[in-house]
Amino acid sequence: MHRRFSRREFLIAAGTVAAVSASRESSAAPRASVIPFERLSDAAEKSARRIVDMHVHFDEKNPNFIGDLVKVCERLNMTACVLTPYPNRKLIAEAAKQYPTRIVPFGFVDLDAPDVVQQVEELHTLNYRGLGELEFVKKPYTDPAYMPVYELANRYGWVVLFHTGIVLRKKFDEPEDVASHRMRAFYLEEIARRFPKITVVGAHCGNPEYQWAAEVARWNPNVFFDLSGSTLTKMHARLSEFRNIFWWSSTEEGTKSPENDPSAFVKLVFGSDTSLDGIERVLAQYRALFEACDVPARTQSLILGGTLAKILGLPE
Ligand SMILES: [Zn+2]
Repeated sequence: MHRRFSRREFLIAAGTVAAVSASRESSAAPRASVIPFERLSDAAEKSARRIVDMHVHFDEKNPNFIGDLVKVCERLNMTACVLTPYPNRKLIAEAAKQYPTRIVPFGFVDLDAPDVVQQVEELHTLNYRGLGELEFVKKPYTDPAYMPVYELANRYGWVVLFHTGIVLRKKFDEPEDVASHRMRAFYLEEIARRFPKITVVGAHCGNPEYQWAAEVARWNPNVFFDLSGSTLTKMHARLSEFRNIFWWSSTEEGTKSPENDPSAFVKLVFGSDTSLDGIERVLAQYRALFEACDVPARTQSLILGGTLAKILGLPE
């Protein structure tokens, strides 16, 4: 509902070459070391290779979106959390029933809509598994007006994806009531603590406030971040700097982590936030990050899918 055009179209409209240069970078991106699958059983191999993409926006302009998505999912052994505008809720609810290993329905609601609570209740009856991407809010995420939605999400034990950090501008010539400061990563700390049954995922790792994002994730077991957006393009030549941001590996300074994994990077999850043909490019960017930061193979598979598969209880 919020997007008039895709992010790629937006970048082109904005006169940048970021999207073009990003795709060039990915073809040259180094591959991270591979998991030694020969030592794993078939089932373990399959789950180690599993990808869960936390950040797939439903594309209202593609009449064959579901078919195209399922094809990509089959090719990549991927499950997509489909961020679905409220008017499209029934279509994706049906698709999720038909493809339970490929599609997980998430409700892309407007927190400022007067009937947002009723929308969320209806999404629950349609077997939605969470909300997101919450963004373009009129007030900071911790405003009391939004608490009834978080209370419901907490009761349902949902995963909620919040946009964090810098946000695109859709209109260049007209006034727009949108501001990134209302969506700063540190707001997620209060939501995670007041609503401990919500799994809070921050999109874009707070770009550019990565330090705040990582510290909030470090102290809160129910907080994770994805690295979708421009960050992995911006940082492609200095990805090792993320070692200083996710710094607490194998120390006693972190909280409980998935599978008790000692790597600080386990607080990341995979999210692409791109068109269907761009998902592999983002995967290559994540793998370049893994290589630059020596992320262990076991942690890689949790980031790329294991963590979310467990939280969402996905079928094999
Ligand atoms: Zn976003």
